[in-house]
Amino acid sequence: MEVLTIQASRSILYNIDPIGIETGLVESLCSYLIRLSYEHNLNVGHLVNKLVVPELHKDYLERSSKYGGNSFFEGAKTINGYKDNSTELVRVLEELTTRIDLANLTLFKLKDLVPLRNLFKETFSWCPECIKNWNDNNKSIYYPLIWYLKPVQICFKHKCYLIDKCPACYKKTDILRRQMIPGHCPNCFNLLIQDEAIEEINNLEWQWHTFVYLNIESLIGLNSSKLFVKENISKQLNYINQDLFSDNIPNFARFLGIPKSTLRAWIKSENIPTLDGLLMVCFKLDTTILEFFSKNLPNVTISHLVEKTKTSKEKVIRRRLDFVSIENSLNEVLICDQPISMVATAKIIGRDKRVLYSNFPEYCKQISKRYREYINLESKQRIEELKKEIQIAFYSLVNEGIYPSSEKIQMKTNKRGLLKERVLQEYWRDLLVMNSLYNGKGRK
Ligand SMILES: [Zn+2]
Ligand SMILES: [Zn+2]
Repeated sequence: MEVLTIQASRSILYNIDPIGIETGLVESLCSYLIRLSYEHNLNVGHLVNKLVVPELHKDYLERSSKYGGNSFFEGAKTINGYKDNSTELVRVLEELTTRIDLANLTLFKLKDLVPLRNLFKETFSWCPECIKNWNDNNKSIYYPLIWYLKPVQICFKHKCYLIDKCPACYKKTDILRRQMIPGHCPNCFNLLIQDEAIEEINNLEWQWHTFVYLNIESLIGLNSSKLFVKENISKQLNYINQDLFSDNIPNFARFLGIPKSTLRAWIKSENIPTLDGLLMVCFKLDTTILEFFSKNLPNVTISHLVEKTKTSKEKVIRRRLDFVSIENSLNEVLICDQPISMVATAKIIGRDKRVLYSNFPEYCKQISKRYREYINLESKQRIEELKKEIQIAFYSLVNEGIYPSSEKIQMKTNKRGLLKERVLQEYWRDLLVMNSLYNGKGRK
């Protein structure tokens, strides 16, 4: 403990700077704890048991640490979250290091936006290329917060999947262990890099993964949490449901590809989507999470957003546009089999949508038009299929001598609420008229 007492006049532990504060690649609290131990030549278990646990004032943890138990480490999965174990560790480490910014290393500011349900990975995963680069360039090796989130599967910088098995011993590794050295496997202590070529990601998967990554990166890098009021999710969904789906939750749910009971619970504020769910909703609606939250919000929060957009726009402009390669990519998007939206295109190319529009307006308009037509066609096909089903049910009822009321049709097709959709209801009425069964009131 000698190392520690030398510093005791100012702080008990060295006041080391967290890496990447206020960026999407901010360090995680786990990583900070590991680096802090490393800088003091202590293993994590030692630092936790001697300095952290006594300050947490949790009897069960003290008992556990005294008798060599593992309670603190077993709960480590959510240390980068926002529950008690996380906020308490922040408090204690801030006291020990005299820092005041360690809450930034957790998801504290997103506590009103994302439930912890299904949020964190069970084991550690990392980008071997990032670690290799930091190591080769003698930079501090650290683990960004974003790596710990379940939906995040890639490193955007290196266009590769994160890996979760050590390339040397093939073992998975816990989120936090008693013995951990930054950048090294806690099982075999080899550097967490791999010699073989990194696995390439196919285009379709890349589209989703980049969408996820960039959205989460922008959330983590945000320096305000004012946007995220739980009620805004239901408000927005309700608004979209009214505006785009004429208050037809089943249709909206079908569009999103989720059960309608789930969507109904979100709209009624009985439940909020997991981060994965929210990402999927925004992906389908061709918007980003920040855009999703930015509409109809009080001015204060919108101004935050504008600030944010300004800086990211500047960044984009600072990156010199490589016209030829962008044009090639846009052309590729335009001729590939599966039409994609401009938001997705912008993510794939890695440029802001507005920059693409202002530099390549024709390409962008064509891509957007093609995607819209594709979406329309899909919904047309769905309507045609449903009409066929209605027709079959209609005539089989007539043949059975039963009046083909809307209720009977719905029972026959086993689709409740089927005729609530205007076009389908009209179609049914047309059938009635054609077969002279219509009495003017649309008998039920
Ligand atoms: Zn990387
Ligand atoms: Zn290993």
